[in-house]
Amino acid sequence: MSAHDVLGPGQKGLFIGGSWREAEGGETFAVHDPADGSVLARVADATVGDAMDALDAAVAAQAGWARTAPRHRSEILRRAFELINARAHDLAELMSLEMGKTIAEAKGEVAYGNEFFRWFSEEAVRIHGRWMQNPAGGSRLLTVKKPVGPCLFVTPWNFPLAMGTRKIGPAVAAGCTMVVKPAELTPLAMLALAGILAEAGLPDGVLNVIPTTRAADISTALMADDRLRKVSFTGSTAVGRQLVRQSADQLPRVSMELGGNAPFILFEDADVDAAVEGAMVAKMRNMGEACTAANRFLVHADVAQEFAEKLATRMGKLVVGRGQDAGVDVGPLIEEKAVRSVDQLVTDAVHDGARVLTGGTAPDGPGFFYRPTVLIDVHPESEINSREIFGPVAPIVTFTTEEEAVARANATEYGLAAYVYTRDLSRAIRMAESLECGMVGINSGLISNAAAPFGGVKASGFGREGGFEGIEEYLETTYVALPAGW
Ligand code: NAD
Repeated sequence: MSAHDVLGPGQKGLFIGGSWREAEGGETFAVHDPADGSVLARVADATVGDAMDALDAAVAAQAGWARTAPRHRSEILRRAFELINARAHDLAELMSLEMGKTIAEAKGEVAYGNEFFRWFSEEAVRIHGRWMQNPAGGSRLLTVKKPVGPCLFVTPWNFPLAMGTRKIGPAVAAGCTMVVKPAELTPLAMLALAGILAEAGLPDGVLNVIPTTRAADISTALMADDRLRKVSFTGSTAVGRQLVRQSADQLPRVSMELGGNAPFILFEDADVDAAVEGAMVAKMRNMGEACTAANRFLVHADVAQEFAEKLATRMGKLVVGRGQDAGVDVGPLIEEKAVRSVDQLVTDAVHDGARVLTGGTAPDGPGFFYRPTVLIDVHPESEINSREIFGPVAPIVTFTTEEEAVARANATEYGLAAYVYTRDLSRAIRMAESLECGMVGINSGLISNAAAPFGGVKASGFGREGGFEGIEEYLETTYVALPAGW
């Protein structure tokens, strides 16, 4: 199958005001297959003028969309959910091609991403304010929820579909219109999604998708326009900081889902085999290219050797190859730069004294592959412990006390996810309370769930996606004071 089988010829254009069109000047850019570097498709390359057209379309649609019945918006999302389910295989192949992940992982992402449409189709009809008596008696206090207005969504390449549905689902449910700028490395899944939402009955102009190679120019222009009322960004902390600075002029609402440096903490009382299973998910989901990926393995000295050997055995058996091929467990990284960055972190860690138990190199040949790697005796100050690895590498550092584990875990500017393995319930609770992060998995390597609030603290950003909290990011509260006697 090729990308052209899923997306029609027009569907590689810009989606603005309900129509597919070319970019101003007809410019396009290439989308590559990371398994061999070949060109999969060419996609329209939006200019600043195109982006402003997309914002015009979103602004024009906003008032009418905000007036629609919540049930109507709910049913559009539900129809989109059904259509995505029916096309899950094609969407998974498309994502596997453009991003490299295996078909099984891509199917997992389709299912996970689609849950946000189901969840927010259910939340759309439960938006409510409150009515209460003034504590001093007499008058009444009312609150009314309203959509924030036109939004800009900027999404990353690692989960091309789910990072979109996590924003689009609640925005549709709340009655917001939007301009979506997908990552230039993986725009195809978002274009497919735009077609599906249109088919599900989303009115023209509510969702506009503008792939581009001019991300900074476009976001700068859009954020300078006071009609834009919300920016939700998922990506690196460096770009997030830039967007937060830019938001100071027009002060749109801002949500930031940024980088992570998750600790995976294994205590001496834990079930080591279960921890190995959890580590395989927390580390290897998406080839390690996940913001929630276990980045630092902090393991009690008593179980470190056993855990490291068992993990290395499992990691060493994984088959690396093209994501669409049968029997492959680990696809390529997204681009050559990513392989060089992972390799440099491993080389530096080894230089600082780490031992390689498995992997540690990139295979020869075309494509951007890296072997699943386990490092033991990693120096706590090695750069691999402070940077997001974004690859299939598990560095192990040992500790001896709970206090030391907490201090090491929190010794990072990031605060997205953490994983804790212990059989001691009170310790698990203490850890959840003392770790500086937005999400904690206890004896679990998988935390993402549409019904849960996803997000971070510190340099991992602010705002939550999913759960009951997710829709609040797209709602404003108007307080209405009523006098006594009404
Ligand atoms: P990135 O910051 O390079 O790019 C993210 C998006 O921002 C892309 O669409 C890109 O085109 C756009 N962009 C780049 N420069 C920009 C600029 N100057 N102005 C406006 N937009 C710009 O990140 P990436 O490499 O695509 O994604 C990986 C990063 O995303 C990792 O740090 C990862 O941890 C993070 N991430 C976070 C979450 C989360 O929910 N917290 C989820 C997935 C990925």
